[in-house]
Amino acid sequence: MMKETGKIAYFCMEYGLASSLKIYSGGLGILAGDHLKAAKDEQVPLVAIGLKWKMGYVEQHVTDDGKVVDCFSPVEYPELHDTGISIHVNIREDRVPLKVWKLEEYGNAPLYLLDADIEGSPYHWVTRQLYGGTEEERVAQEIVLGLGGVKALQALNIPVTTYHFNEGHAVLAGIALIRQEMDQGSDFNRAWAKIRKKIVFTTHTPIAAGNESHTIERLRYMGAHQGLTIEQLAEIGGVPFNMTVAGLRLSRKANAVAALHLETTKKMWKHINKKASLINITNGVHGPTWMDSRLNKDKLDIEMVQKVHQEHKSDLLAEVEKRTGVQLHKESLLIGFARRATPYKRSNLIFSNPAIIDPLLKSKRVQLIFSGKAHPMDERGKSIIKALVLKQKEFPESVVFMEDYDMELGALLTKGCDVWLNNPQRPKEACGTSGMKAAMNGVLNVSILDGWWPEICQHGINGWAIGDEMVPEDETEQDKRDAGYLYQVLTEEVIPTFEKDKAKWSTMMIKSIEDTRGAYSASRMINDYCEKMYDLK
Ligand SMILES: *Cc1c(COP(=O)(O)O)cnc(C)c1O
Repeated sequence: MMKETGKIAYFCMEYGLASSLKIYSGGLGILAGDHLKAAKDEQVPLVAIGLKWKMGYVEQHVTDDGKVVDCFSPVEYPELHDTGISIHVNIREDRVPLKVWKLEEYGNAPLYLLDADIEGSPYHWVTRQLYGGTEEERVAQEIVLGLGGVKALQALNIPVTTYHFNEGHAVLAGIALIRQEMDQGSDFNRAWAKIRKKIVFTTHTPIAAGNESHTIERLRYMGAHQGLTIEQLAEIGGVPFNMTVAGLRLSRKANAVAALHLETTKKMWKHINKKASLINITNGVHGPTWMDSRLNKDKLDIEMVQKVHQEHKSDLLAEVEKRTGVQLHKESLLIGFARRATPYKRSNLIFSNPAIIDPLLKSKRVQLIFSGKAHPMDERGKSIIKALVLKQKEFPESVVFMEDYDMELGALLTKGCDVWLNNPQRPKEACGTSGMKAAMNGVLNVSILDGWWPEICQHGINGWAIGDEMVPEDETEQDKRDAGYLYQVLTEEVIPTFEKDKAKWSTMMIKSIEDTRGAYSASRMINDYCEKMYDLK
């Protein structure tokens, strides 16, 4: 039994709970959704705080010639319950009313969503669109999540033992807690020391530029400072105010999301003083959501694993045909690659040497399915999608781009492909949970040693590594080297094993499932959080 004196209050901008509930954009949200589901399964006393988005994250369609068309439609919330509770936060100089909704589906781990869309409110737009809008809009959203979240928990009479900020978007909650302590008579330093004991923080971004920051002037103009002075804000978040730095300094403990990501995080923030001690809790995925339950048996045999896999492969091929008209071959190797379309993920790496890849595609010995959205404002990401669509035109029978990547498509792909490919530049992938989904369904990872993969990869036994641990500084050099290794592993190991040694392939599938289904489950993850971050065990 866990000792329960209050709840863990988990804060996140997005939640990926179901494909239809479009309040997530990608990995961060799906991780938060899996965290919530695992908290329910493992009976962890947790409440989650998020925003009730009016418009869902972008739906993305692609024309025949590769032009990306963004659509936004209102989110439908079938099971949302009005708590009847209203609170307010101050944005700029204005009092902004917020409604509090509750999603009860997750039992002991309910999700509360804050909503600014109230008739007559001049700030009804704040919760309009996830990751949309200007920087000021973003700060306004972070005020609602952070300050609003703290107030909502108090209005709901939910005692909190630990606040967990999942990524930097929520750190203004820490500022709100300092303000409240100061209003009770503490000075700034005492208030800060006191609230630090109650906060933990998870960082996800291994790229320095990806860590959001705001000028202190903007935070003050928006009212996010809660009356703290310029110097006090700078002490917490630096100048400009970096949300990750603030998270590291407002928390008693912070974590990275894979062992390698911890090393990267430590290097990246080495120069930051007064930060929390950093540990690693590698992400996990929610088994009941992502894994075929038949593969959860103690003893796995080749026939059963193959039967389950072939079923999923057929389902995927049927869906590909339904959506795109393309008929892929059931017997040929099927490689999946679904990632946000952004340069460092290198969706195109496999095409870099036509002399090697083109004949494999022409003969249909290799078939490729791509999917992934670009951020609506990211023109480079959109040009990556266009390049993939042009490849589909060049190889209409063996290359497919599936538009509008979401949880449903993610589940189909990570069950139905033969191989799951991941080749980002290093070390830029924090974790890469789609590889875990694939691995526990017996879809073999072929991946760069980044994110979670170096922790478990046994080359040629439970999947394959692309290259080694060496990372050249120079990115062009890295691309060249990695493309070479990718072709080497494909032509010398993956394809020959698939075509000529089915027994070895099946044995590898079983090993992949056995090595990951427990170790990379969200249950293991939430238990790690309970023990190492929440002090619950
Ligand atoms: C699992 C999942 C992700 C996160 O996986 P990565 O490996 O980090 O890309 C993103 N989007 C969808 C739809 C997913 O199912």
